[in-house]
Amino acid sequence: MTASSQSVEPFDLVIFGGTGDLAVRKLLPALFHRFLDGQIPASSRIVGIAREALNDAGYRALLREALIGICDAAKLDVFLQQVFYRSLDARKDAGWDEFAGFIGAQPDHVRVFYLSTSPELFVDICTRLGHYGLNQGASRVVLEKPIGRDLASANQINDAVGKVFTESQTFRIDHYLGKETVQNLLVLRFGNALFEPLWNAGHIDHVQITVAETLGVGHRGAYYDRAGALRDMVQNHMLQLLCMVAMEPPSSLAPDAVRDEKLKVLHSLKAIDESNVSQLTVRGQYRAGVAEGASVPGYPDELGNNKSNTETFVALKAEIANWRWAGVPFYLRTGKRLPSRVSEIVVTFKPVPHSIFSADAGTLSQNRLVLRLQPDEGVKLWLTIKHPGPGGLRLRHVPLDMSFAEAFGVQQPDAYERLLLDVVRGNPTLFMRRDEVEAAWRWAGPILAAWSASGEAPRPYTAGSWGPSAAVALIERDGRTWNEDQ
Ligand code: NAP
Repeated sequence: MTASSQSVEPFDLVIFGGTGDLAVRKLLPALFHRFLDGQIPASSRIVGIAREALNDAGYRALLREALIGICDAAKLDVFLQQVFYRSLDARKDAGWDEFAGFIGAQPDHVRVFYLSTSPELFVDICTRLGHYGLNQGASRVVLEKPIGRDLASANQINDAVGKVFTESQTFRIDHYLGKETVQNLLVLRFGNALFEPLWNAGHIDHVQITVAETLGVGHRGAYYDRAGALRDMVQNHMLQLLCMVAMEPPSSLAPDAVRDEKLKVLHSLKAIDESNVSQLTVRGQYRAGVAEGASVPGYPDELGNNKSNTETFVALKAEIANWRWAGVPFYLRTGKRLPSRVSEIVVTFKPVPHSIFSADAGTLSQNRLVLRLQPDEGVKLWLTIKHPGPGGLRLRHVPLDMSFAEAFGVQQPDAYERLLLDVVRGNPTLFMRRDEVEAAWRWAGPILAAWSASGEAPRPYTAGSWGPSAAVALIERDGRTWNEDQ
């Protein structure tokens, strides 16, 4: 049986960057869905903040347009009565006194300050939240990625936030951790006796993690060009997924029990640096091609800069130096303008030690557990069976579909729905602790440094392809191939 939705304490959720893309496209729809499910107490307030001179009515009209497709207008209008707007500049004091009074009017509410702005504003916002006495009672701050662009800048942000909010009040969000499939990975691994005995170098051949996008950089070029695929995807989302696959069983789901185990994985990652970067990593940058049936420009044209050395694709082979995983490669691949939008983890088991079947029965394939995060969240276990019926013994490789959302009549929630309410509840299990962010930068930093020292440009690849051919060679050198069952 599933538990029904549990309501939460009344809260005030303040979204800095309330008119931005993330807030309008993801955060407000997530809150609206939770409202429709009856999880948002009636006295709770959602407050958008940005510099634009809007009032409550103007902000509600903006959101109305964005949310109208989700449900009927009457319910939306009730929801919007709980939404407010304050025009504030994170860098100026005007208006902050009034804002502090507005929030202070409901002193018993849980306060959530969601920083959905560029990270350059995090320090200003937190300093003012402290200065105007807004960190009171049950207050929490949510930090969107990216937290810095290297270890030093991440530390700077974390130090400044830490002057106002304690670590237990600080929620560093990685929305991949809120995805249903990632939760399911935890349950599959630790709620079944079947997998754990096989979950090690003795039985697992390798793991692949792919996060592929069909889109180019679009209007995010200025941000993206300073980041690149390693900082944008690998250092955070993909390492978090790797940790969920590779961590030891935590003693409970208590926040620190889970995060301690993830941290150990990050500490056990083998270094990739100047000595091995060319064997273990491939960087690419897309050129003009065809994506989703349309001709698209290359990255230099989209950016308006043909000198950019930023990678829009990375493939790498990571290894975890501990007893469980020694010798098991974790192949990671991510990029923009790839042929399909897919995020998945593929755990490939070792082949059977000896085949008793004749060649005309067909070939034996290795078992694979495929955890799909998007577009269609689900879990499949690929098994070999006998083709049913007469006609001789023929082997078939078939997926056992373990995606039960349909069977349970459940519409899968967006990751932000779960994570936003976890913040209100004060449950940081699915958020990154400061030491995790630091450990991830300690591993990623030498890769970035080695790329920079090599002076090599990223390899070009055609938009709509699976990246540079060197990425295929990276895995084929080891006698393996990227998963193609899309
Ligand atoms: P965006 O569309 O550029 O929105 C930025 C928001 O910040 C706007 O509401 C803007 O409004 C406000 N703002 C800018 N300067 C301000 C200031 N001085 N004081 C107060 N408000 C200010 O950015 P976004 O795409 O929503 O992204 C926000 C953050 O989330 C970024 O760090 C991004 O990397 C991260 N993120 C975004 C996505 C996504 O899908 N968009 C996904 C993951 C992470 P005004 O200009 O009116 O002030």
